[in-house]
Amino acid sequence: MSTLALHGGPPVKTTPFATGRRFGDEELQQLREALEQNTLFYWYGKKVSGFCEKLAGIYGMPYCAAASSGTAAIHTAVGALGIGPGDEVITTPITDMGTVIGILYEGATPVFADLDPHTYNPDPLSIEANITDKTKAIVVVHLAGNPADMGAILDIAQRHDLKVIEDCAQSWLSYYKGRLAGTFGDFGCFSTNEFKHISTGDGGAVLTRDELLYRKALMFADKNYDRIGGMTIRNCETLAPNYRMTELQGAVGIAQLDKLAAICARRNELGDRITREISGLPGVHPPKVLEGCKSSYWFYMMRIDESQAGVDAQGFADALQAEGIPAGKGYIPTCVYEYPLFRGAYPKGLCPVAEEILETCVKFTISQFWTDDDASDIVAAIRKVAGWYGGKA
Ligand SMILES: *Cc1c(COP(=O)(O)O)cnc(C)c1O
Repeated sequence: MSTLALHGGPPVKTTPFATGRRFGDEELQQLREALEQNTLFYWYGKKVSGFCEKLAGIYGMPYCAAASSGTAAIHTAVGALGIGPGDEVITTPITDMGTVIGILYEGATPVFADLDPHTYNPDPLSIEANITDKTKAIVVVHLAGNPADMGAILDIAQRHDLKVIEDCAQSWLSYYKGRLAGTFGDFGCFSTNEFKHISTGDGGAVLTRDELLYRKALMFADKNYDRIGGMTIRNCETLAPNYRMTELQGAVGIAQLDKLAAICARRNELGDRITREISGLPGVHPPKVLEGCKSSYWFYMMRIDESQAGVDAQGFADALQAEGIPAGKGYIPTCVYEYPLFRGAYPKGLCPVAEEILETCVKFTISQFWTDDDASDIVAAIRKVAGWYGGKA
């Protein structure tokens, strides 16, 4: 076996990872049309509405409302559901702040359920164990493109009469048993920030089947002004922010949605291939996708069991880096509930599985632009590092 690059051997990756252009003539054409409308206001132009119609169509959902970000979309769902002070909302500790910002702004309390050790998605047993008479909703995060166990979660929600918001910011076109993540809950929330599968710079959207919730979401994202009847009714009953999307974002979004299926299919192919080709290595646990489900791999995160791998996650990531693979230990610095903003309100150890995931995971991004050779190099590097340390253990 060749020496690890970390120890002076030849690195696996000798060619740069393939990259590509996310935006092209399609976006330019849409932007031109948006400007030629002579308005960039979503209620007057056709681009935000076109983006929403197209997104709803792709997901087979009747209603879609746009928002200015994924955070805004989730806040809009929380607001439209009337969640407020005194209410508890169960969510997950390994996620983006955007998952909990809306809960906090509405004065509700996030309650953190622990995760499955290998899907990194909420453990239904922990969700159920955290339900109190104050629980109003569950915000389910489908982490890294991997669909959560929606069958079990919906069953819990129905039995306890809880609302369900799906945070699909990282999981465009992810399938839970043949059905798209984002179509199960009262709301499915999406992000088109710069780093997601598709980008409008910033942006977001909510999907729902419920016409009344749709109207509430439309209003919540627009200061609770009611524009639906054609006149703008401003005498709001409750407070809401301005989370409007502009026609420019809508225009780019329309063109990006045309690329979504190919982007997600390629990411799925790359991620699944890496998992197939590294499975069985001692102490290396690829992310687990539930039976019959499909991940669109926003990133790829595996776990290292030091006792079998002969190296910890940090050492494994360092060795991969030296081989030319931009991998790192961990994802977010700590569980969200450990962030200083909570001032210690949640104890360390609250979600032991989630905390252990963060200590033992190695993560790298996935790109739809990668060639098959890029994926082969990643697999070869992981196998090389695992073989080196595993052989020594
Ligand atoms: C990106 C992200 C958000 C927030 O989206 P923004 O558009 O950045 O506000 C929320 N939840 C998750 C899981 C995310 O990855």
